[in-house]
Amino acid sequence: MTLRNRITLLTLALLVSSLLVLGAVVYATLRSYLFSGIRPELEAALSQIESAIDDPNVLSRLDALSRISPNLYAQLVRAFGDLHSLGPTSREFFTVRILTSPNLGSSNFSVSLRDLERVWRGELIYTRASIQRDNLPSLNVQVIAKRLKADPFGQGELQDFILVVGRPLDSVSLVLSRWLQVYSAVAVVVLLLAALLAQRLVRRTLEPLEWVARKAEAVSQKPEALPEPQGKDEVAALIRSLNRMMARLESTWQAQTQFVADASHELRTPITAILGHVSFLLRRTPLTEQQRESLEVVVRESERMKKLVTDLLELSKSGNWKLHMGAVHVPTLLEQIQEEYARSFEGRIELEVPENLWVQGDPERLHQVFANLVSNAIKARATRVRLVARDVSAGAVVRVEDDGEGIPAEHLPRLFERFYRVDKARDRERGGTGLGLAIVKTIVEAHGGRVWVESTVGKGTTFSVSLMRATAPQPQLR
Ligand code: ADP
Repeated sequence: MTLRNRITLLTLALLVSSLLVLGAVVYATLRSYLFSGIRPELEAALSQIESAIDDPNVLSRLDALSRISPNLYAQLVRAFGDLHSLGPTSREFFTVRILTSPNLGSSNFSVSLRDLERVWRGELIYTRASIQRDNLPSLNVQVIAKRLKADPFGQGELQDFILVVGRPLDSVSLVLSRWLQVYSAVAVVVLLLAALLAQRLVRRTLEPLEWVARKAEAVSQKPEALPEPQGKDEVAALIRSLNRMMARLESTWQAQTQFVADASHELRTPITAILGHVSFLLRRTPLTEQQRESLEVVVRESERMKKLVTDLLELSKSGNWKLHMGAVHVPTLLEQIQEEYARSFEGRIELEVPENLWVQGDPERLHQVFANLVSNAIKARATRVRLVARDVSAGAVVRVEDDGEGIPAEHLPRLFERFYRVDKARDRERGGTGLGLAIVKTIVEAHGGRVWVESTVGKGTTFSVSLMRATAPQPQLR
């Protein structure tokens, strides 16, 4: 997942949790506020009924339950039970309705047995209950219930009753559910807006970093300073650090390149001297067979060292090559190579190239590329080398195909590395340095092209070079 998406998701996750916590807190506060308003109302009605029942006026006693507010319900029940045998499953506790407020009609409060038992023990309870109504859905109510001694029928004997007063919760539920709907809708809108805003903000914040990455990618071929942005933010600081690091890298890189170039250059003179003297000895002095053999080894090794030094010098200078680019006629280039190797090579070199194929390049460097590839094919004991050029959409591909020994697959990925050799002893014997293909790759890439290899052991190898096509130069009138 990209950094941009991760930051956006994290911001949204934080926002969702904040909205949930906020919603829960507001919901709980609102609910407790709404419920706290009901209790005093119920308590007032309860004590009003209590005192009316105790009133000696007989009429008002029976009337006591109808005097409370019309949105309240009340019921007086006679409870029968034995305190000692009470329990959640007690069958010895039951109630009989005695008086009800008129709005309750034939319906009854449905208070849980456990709550009734608590009341019977003397507790004043304030709890949720329901009213079971005939042919109508039951009604949720908040009730207050109390055990009291009264004589509602004026019989001169106080008896135990339970008085239940309740208020329907539909208005409270309505307020709460409306609030929930509105809050959820607002939360969804806020989340959508926040998602859009977060994405934009994150994109804008990370843009400079992406710019740094693009610039760094562009200069990855060779250390080069990045353009420093204005300002003192973290991105500017990052670029300054990168530039300092690249300056250090560049100086190390230059020192290393310079060292290789100087060392190769210095080595060339003694090697040339050794070769000259040994060749003189071989040609001009009487030698025993053994001396001749030894001197021939010295010549061979010196030749190899000379090639190694030349290749190293070549590679060390590759960063500063000046390519003399122009339109190169591919058939001419490949014919030159064919001619060059025809004399020393015992096998056949075949050409298959369209007559009018031109590529952009430095003719000398391109010559070096194909000469290297053909010489490798010959070293690999090929009997037939084919130079095939093809016109492809944006450029040209030149293939050097041979029927030599082939290269085992495990070596192919590292073949273009410096000093990489498939079989060290064998390749040394054949005068290889392991630098040829590294030079080929460097030259081709400096031309904006690509080189790749396919090979089958025992069948042969094909190196392909892609180059940019050029238009044929216009003939000049003199
Ligand atoms: P060298 O200068 O030693 O030839 P290169 O970089 O040109 O080094 O080649 C690297 C290795 O790749 C060589 O050791 C050689 O074994 C192998 N190689 C290159 N071209 C071919 C080929 N056409 N067929 C078989 N092996 C090859």
